[in-house]
Amino acid sequence: MIESISAFLKKRLDEYAFRPVTYKKGTVARSADGVVTVTGLPERRYGELLEFEGGVFGMALDLSEESVGAVLFDTAESVRAGTAVHGTGAVLEVPVGDNLPGRVIDPIGRPLDGKPLTPQEYYPVERPAPAIIDRRPVDTPLETGILAIDSMIPIGRGQRELIIGDRQTGKTTIALDAIINQKDKNVLCVYCAIGQKASTVAGVIETLTKAGAMKYTAVVYAGASDSPAMQYLAPYAAASAAEYFAAKGRDVLVVYDDLSKHAVAYRMMSLLLLRPPGREAYPGDIFYLHSRLLERSACLSKEKGGGSITALPIVETMAGNISAYIPTNVISITDGQIFLESGLFLSGVRPAVNTGLSVSRVGRAAQHPAMKAFSGTLRIDLSQYREAEIFTRFGSDPDPATARLLKRGSTLVNLLKQNKSAPYSLFDEVSLLLAYRENLFTELPAGQFKTEIPRFLDYMRRACPDILRQMNRTGKATDEDTNDLTTAVNAYEPGGAL
Ligand code: ATP
Ligand code: MG
Repeated sequence: MIESISAFLKKRLDEYAFRPVTYKKGTVARSADGVVTVTGLPERRYGELLEFEGGVFGMALDLSEESVGAVLFDTAESVRAGTAVHGTGAVLEVPVGDNLPGRVIDPIGRPLDGKPLTPQEYYPVERPAPAIIDRRPVDTPLETGILAIDSMIPIGRGQRELIIGDRQTGKTTIALDAIINQKDKNVLCVYCAIGQKASTVAGVIETLTKAGAMKYTAVVYAGASDSPAMQYLAPYAAASAAEYFAAKGRDVLVVYDDLSKHAVAYRMMSLLLLRPPGREAYPGDIFYLHSRLLERSACLSKEKGGGSITALPIVETMAGNISAYIPTNVISITDGQIFLESGLFLSGVRPAVNTGLSVSRVGRAAQHPAMKAFSGTLRIDLSQYREAEIFTRFGSDPDPATARLLKRGSTLVNLLKQNKSAPYSLFDEVSLLLAYRENLFTELPAGQFKTEIPRFLDYMRRACPDILRQMNRTGKATDEDTNDLTTAVNAYEPGGAL
């Protein structure tokens, strides 16, 4: 049984050392849908916790000369016009600590997994982003284990890479695969679910647990049925949890799933606070809402502990429209985007990455040398293939050069298809790219790739165990290694008996 939000916050406030204080009381003038207007409250701060008569808590968000607009964490019927209010002098804090991985908490730090949580430290939910001087350039890759991404849209530790696409195009799956691939890579993960169904999040937790990834992953959850205030706070709480680890020099990966729902929760709150609506009825500060969140992800300098926070925010589009308000905002804040297309997804290209519209603005600098050596022309190959493919739809007979281009292109598309929860190691990825370079699978029928790829990778691992170990450890491949790998690739017989 989860204790109520108000009881939890009350207990937390009672932990403060006793000191005599005088409270100046205000009164609720208006209350509707979890948003209240308070008059007569003199000293108040932005984001301050307010305690309402009857033990209900809210947060001050709108400060004006005459009144304070606040949002309630609980949908409390006891708050009505005339209810007394006083400020607590405290801003909302979340528990952070080394015991968070493996746990599921809500934005105010209540454990949701039925086990007690002993907080080690508290961080305010809103914290300033690291200054320029406290940052260093992104130089280490964050491997997702997804070939299409690691080869063409590489992500570096400390980067912010947006995952964007229509509903049901595999956005969450990419983020989860990235988390699953951090096993034994010394990266801690935080998965923040905003406005999602409880059943969906239960599925996510099950996937992570099955893959053994919950051990190093904390889940922050504010569901669709939670108050807009809780949904609004969720990503900031997740960022605070990540900052604790980064300050200790750890590398952290945070997933915000998803920021469209976050923006909708904030819009709901803002409209109820009677803030003027702007484009698509979002309030004027919607850009700042996401920029101050994503700016908290960074690669910290050695003086600041040398940790990093990589952010994978997710945004849902409608009918592939990436020029809508929230998508354009978040695209301009992040260092690149992975665009997923429902057309590709439905035609069986999974992950459904549209490489033409996807980009990583800093990751290339952080790519493993071994991967960099083989992935240079993939994007061009794919775009040439897509272009040539359109022309062949008219039924014309392609010339030999185009026929070859088409064959190689469709081989690449098939090689880039990947099952969910099945990340590749660097060695696997390099082996597949070498197989593509050496035209190993060009004659293979499309239907056979599914069985052929695992067989091929198994063969490569057995053929070059030393290179496997060394490459996965160092990320490098010498010319000699490349030669050995190429020989092994060419000795393989696709579809044949081993
Ligand atoms: P939503 O918009 O509902 O959040 P989403 O974009 O996050 O959806 P997912 O939930 O990740 O999409 O995936 C949708 C479905 O596609 C799931 O059933 C998932 O199992 C399946 N799927 C995603 N990626 C793959 C893949 N690479 N291989 C096979 N199935 C996949
Ligand atoms: Mg999803």
